[in-house]
Order: sequence, then structure tokens, then C-alpha cells
Amino acid sequence: MKLFKKQEAQQFVAHGKALVCPHCGHDRFWTKKVLLNSSISTFFGFDWADRTANCFACEQCGRLEWFVGR
Ligand SMILES: [Zn+2]
Repeated sequence: MKLFKKQEAQQFVAHGKALVCPHCGHDRFWTKKVLLNSSISTFFGFDWADRTANCFACEQCGRLEWFVGR
């Protein structure tokens, strides 16, 4: 996946809970901070929020998890 540069997949904790892939159960992810454009923010009602999201990609199956506004 070109979006995520070569780096070690890591374990993460989000809101006090270990991040685990809901699809395959793997617990290591690549992460990237993504800037949301304003139309996406408006769609989700996040106009008030910091317009960045933390994106996590499961090392094993590639499923994406998004956390916005932190
Ligand atoms: Zn997975």
C-alpha cells in the first residue's frame, strides 16, 4: 500500500482500548495522519473539529480504521 510508507506496524491504544482489527483480529497497524477536506467534515458534522483524522491500516488484512478529532 503506497499510502503508508515502509514502517513497522505497531500496537495502538485508542480511548483507553487496545486497537484490534474487527475483521481479522490482528493488533498491529500502520498509521497516518490525514487531513480531511471540508466537504467530508461537513458531511459527518465535524465542522467544529480539528480537520485531521488518524487513519490506521491493519497490517494483516489492510482494513482501515479512522479516528477523527483527536
Ligand atoms: Zn485485519
